Amino acid sequence: MLNIVLFGPPGSGKGTQSERLIKQFELIHLSTGDILRAQIAEKTKLGLEAKQIMDKGELVPDNVVVGMISGIIENNKNAKGFIFDGFPRTIAQAEVLDKMLIIHSTNVALLLMLDVEEEVLIKRLTLRGEKSGRKDDVDINIIQNRINVYHSQTKPVLEYYQKQGKAFQINGVQTEEEVYSDISKVMSKFVK
Ligand code: ADP
Repeated sequence: MLNIVLFGPPGSGKGTQSERLIKQFELIHLSTGDILRAQIAEKTKLGLEAKQIMDKGELVPDNVVVGMISGIIENNKNAKGFIFDGFPRTIAQAEVLDKMLIIHSTNVALLLMLDVEEEVLIKRLTLRGEKSGRKDDVDINIIQNRINVYHSQTKPVLEYYQKQGKAFQINGVQTEEEVYSDISKVMSKFVK
């Protein structure tokens, strides 16, 4: 399996680049944000609880997201690999992911970090909010809170994978094509 963590602050372009990666490498896209929004749309109990948290820009509890992810890995044992988009977002999630993958005799091959400065993130998220109406993108205070949460709780995940020698930083302030071209250069080291 080829398992990739696509990492970066909110608005760094993870979703866009994931779409390209899954097409080219036939991987399964696992976006915890998308799964949670699907739960909200279906008005499940989990979805209703998650909505309160997401609307504030806080993180949903680790056990909730881990539960969602483990089921999907379990049901796709023969997949070529996964793209984890928006997960892991805490060190605890990263540790559980490593353990889950070991059980399936696989691991995280690499982490791609989309590097985008705060000013650009805020502009992109505000614009996205105007178009989509996504609640956590509409309010500047919530956007700012998500960026703060990224720095305090999520950024350590980058260091966790850096220590394993698996993290690659990509300049995310370029056109979508240019970002993907830089990603492709890294990918060519892993896929022959
Ligand atoms: P973005 O990267 O733009 O913040 P996401 O769709 O990845 O968008 O996440 C939206 C929200 O969903 C987050 O602010 C958080 O509340 C929740 N969420 C998504 N993934 C996770 C996760 N792995 N752990 C905890 N909460 C998560």
